[in-house]
Amino acid sequence: MIKPQPLVYNGDMKIIRSKYAGACYGVERALSLVDDAACHTDAVVHTLGPLIHNPQVVSELRGRGVEEAATVDEIDSGVVVIRSHGVEPSIIKQAHEKGLTVVDATCPHVSKAHEAAWSLREQGYLVMVVGELGHPEVEGIHAYAGDNAIVVQDPSDIPEHLESSKVGIVVQTTQAASVLEAIIEALRQRGIEPRVRNTICFATKQRQQAAVELAKKADVMVIVGGRNSGNTTRLAQLCQEVCPKTYHIERPTELSKDWFEGASLVGITAGASTPENQIIAVERALAALENQT
Ligand code: SF4
Repeated sequence: MIKPQPLVYNGDMKIIRSKYAGACYGVERALSLVDDAACHTDAVVHTLGPLIHNPQVVSELRGRGVEEAATVDEIDSGVVVIRSHGVEPSIIKQAHEKGLTVVDATCPHVSKAHEAAWSLREQGYLVMVVGELGHPEVEGIHAYAGDNAIVVQDPSDIPEHLESSKVGIVVQTTQAASVLEAIIEALRQRGIEPRVRNTICFATKQRQQAAVELAKKADVMVIVGGRNSGNTTRLAQLCQEVCPKTYHIERPTELSKDWFEGASLVGITAGASTPENQIIAVERALAALENQT
């Protein structure tokens, strides 16, 4: 658990970190599994896609000899790490068939979403995967949900004609609860009562709720994390709704002093793929900005 860390500096501006911010259990576990693999084998360690959606971490791993491959076809030998987003089962099978050592860093919460999708499909439901089209986690869940499963990002994605009114819902772990609620409501308005397996993970809920709570009080919100990170981007969107001066940055050098003019309370939060050292770097840079006034 990350405790609130109020930081008060010279001047009137107070900087507070959200109660829950930064790297989640699944990301820390994936980083530690890659670390173990890199330390305990002479074989080349590959991650299937960037290990996490954080450009600085990916670049550090590259510096330590961990290579990134887009597909199993690109790997001839060694270790392949399945990242926390998980993959479709055929990819793990392919890696085993090629004789690769598979380190499965799929987050257990994502595995639960796989199981939920599989179970709904087995029970004869038409599965709706609520999530971001094309996101690797969603593609993995989709594979378990079956060929006729549908990915919906918002109510307008629900097709006019559904093959069945027996609809089961499974959710990308990092989705906002409001998106899920809107989709359930849209189905109800069509007379469909879906069977919902809410697989939004606890870490996501905690980060979103704590961020919005802080954003309601803050004059400015700074969201730290990869622009390619879905959960970080969603944090920024949620904060923006209640704090218009919300900025999503990857690095401290992106901070601009004029964003904070007249601000007395600045909130900081970070996505589940943002390591602690990156949050601290932004906090320090903010303090230094304030000290320059
Ligand atoms: S956000 Fe949740 S599901 Fe995703 S890796 Fe972290 S703990 Fe796992």
